[in-house]
Amino acid sequence: MPVVPMREILDRAFAERYGVAAINVVDDLSLEAVLAAATELEAPLIVQTSLKTVKSLGTGPLMAIWRARAAEAPVPVTLHLDHCPDRAWITRCLEAGWNSVLFDGSELDVAENTRQTIEVVAEADRHGAQVEGEIESVTGVEDGVGSDDAGDVHPTEVSAAFIAATGIYSFAPAIGTAHGLYKATPHLMPERVTEIVAEHPIPMVLHGGTGLTEEQFSDLIARGCAKVNISTALKIAFVDAHREYLDANPGKHDPPALLKHVRAAVKDMAERHIRIFGSAGKARAFDSATA
Ligand SMILES: [Zn+2]
Repeated sequence: MPVVPMREILDRAFAERYGVAAINVVDDLSLEAVLAAATELEAPLIVQTSLKTVKSLGTGPLMAIWRARAAEAPVPVTLHLDHCPDRAWITRCLEAGWNSVLFDGSELDVAENTRQTIEVVAEADRHGAQVEGEIESVTGVEDGVGSDDAGDVHPTEVSAAFIAATGIYSFAPAIGTAHGLYKATPHLMPERVTEIVAEHPIPMVLHGGTGLTEEQFSDLIARGCAKVNISTALKIAFVDAHREYLDANPGKHDPPALLKHVRAAVKDMAERHIRIFGSAGKARAFDSATA
């Protein structure tokens, strides 16, 4: 199955109220492992890259790896650029072929964020790509973007006005989740998802999901969080698997065995989340729709 636009994956997920895992990959190994998980569970999948990963690999090489790997996947997949406050990199990624971008203008005041997001939506339109918007920064630093201070939460009307003015495809509301690992039990505000969706029925995006319970995920997905970002859980699986293997095999210098161990851990992590989010088996509907 070829790479599909973000809207082709999320329109259905939002309508049927299941969640699609949007996993931040860091290299070819993690990309292949998450695609293998989606393939095994017959699930649609969103692959994301942080701006840090894009900068470290380069848009050209990253796009080449993505196209080659995605071409082999028998499930619908799409590529998204996670939190990007930098317009020049948004442009580079759209030109290179990313299917969706998160213009992160949460450091700007809402008026300026709105003005710039309108421009990004127009630019993305020309590439057939979709835009995720946000006006409240998700607490926590992720790959160099963000802050550890809890940001402002605007009244629901401000979010609704932002969505209406910009024409964004999806929206990342602040609902009390944070990037990274929770130091204390998060105080969630799931009703914000319901309120915004009631005003503007567009897919909501859940950031900072690592550490939430299955019930919390299911509740937020049922309220309209169709895209569920997974970044910290991948980093933990990826790094801990390296550590585990190296600690258990101090005298070995066998890269393929190490990589095999890491791949298995990343694939397991992805499968676990896909199952919780309810998207396992959902790729089958795409086959019948396109056949
Ligand atoms: Zn995020």
